[in-house]
Amino acid sequence: MADKKKKKREIDDRFKKFGTVSFTATTKVNDFITHLEEGRVTGTRCQTCGTHYFPPRADCYRCRGKARMEWFTVEGKGKLLTYSVLQYAPVGFTEDLPYAIAVLDYGDYKVFGRIAPKVPFEELKLGMEMTTRVNRLAGGQLNYVFEPA
Ligand SMILES: [Zn+2]
Repeated sequence: MADKKKKKREIDDRFKKFGTVSFTATTKVNDFITHLEEGRVTGTRCQTCGTHYFPPRADCYRCRGKARMEWFTVEGKGKLLTYSVLQYAPVGFTEDLPYAIAVLDYGDYKVFGRIAPKVPFEELKLGMEMTTRVNRLAGGQLNYVFEPA
């Protein structure tokens, strides 16, 4: 097709909408951002072997070429596996200090992220049940945060 060369290559940069500082603007899992806009936090699952991935991956390291990936929604309650209250942060995150990062265990997968700013650190207890929800930052950027269930 002769006119194909003339067309500008469209860049799928949906990840520019993610987080305070976006490190990755283009990936094979940009639907993650569309799902956030729809109010869902999602990961991927390999239909071939059942492995769940969060953050989402476009390929399964176990099945490689045989992998058939699908999206799943992070829903229900996860258990607070670990957390850390940060007093120092990289450039771009210093205005948020202090804030807590954490890992929730959902059984088949784990989710790494931030505790919602409104949750007092004193309320955090290992093993407590928490949920993951979409969060809209000032300026319209998207991320997700953890809150007590
Ligand atoms: Zn697999």
